[in-house]
Amino acid sequence: MPAWTDLIRDVPDFPQPGILFKDITPVLADAAAFAAAVEAMAMPWRDEAIDAVVGVEARGFILGAALARELEVGFVPVRKPGKLPAHTLSLDYGLEYGRDRLEIHVDAVPAGARVLVVDDVLATGGTLKAAIELVERQGAIVIGTGVLVELGFLGARAAWRHAAPLHASARY
Ligand code: AMP
Repeated sequence: MPAWTDLIRDVPDFPQPGILFKDITPVLADAAAFAAAVEAMAMPWRDEAIDAVVGVEARGFILGAALARELEVGFVPVRKPGKLPAHTLSLDYGLEYGRDRLEIHVDAVPAGARVLVVDDVLATGGTLKAAIELVERQGAIVIGTGVLVELGFLGARAAWRHAAPLHASARY
């Protein structure tokens, strides 16, 4: 695995007992590691026609905004409920325990736009699937999904049904 992955910190039992949290903040804090991580996320898409990067609150904003700059396209946030100020489209989705909701501004991605959806960690995949659906409900095209870290043992990739490629820069 590339050197920047050494800075991903495993935090046991956060935010609850039994979860091994992949903390990417040490990667972000190191200039060379941050640059290498963003480069790793950008690499698979460099030859693709992309109109926007959509990132999921909150760590998906950090990586997504950096990736959008790297790919020289705009950035669109998908947020938790009640945070976006203008007219939004909402989607409820199932979590392992309970439900959650994500929102996007209705005018954020035009119909037909080619969009890359990103987050920091792919765990069960529910969050990214919801973000993809929000983008597609607006008539935009999800040309791919990118994460910095994939937790492969949770099986999200095996259950992934979206036709566009799913790229992970590091896998555990
Ligand atoms: P998911 O289960 O794929 O919907 O993940 C939900 C959200 O929680 C994603 O935005 C991830 O960034 C975050 N997440 C889930 N599990 C972990 C983990 N073990 N370490 C760090 N972040 C996680």
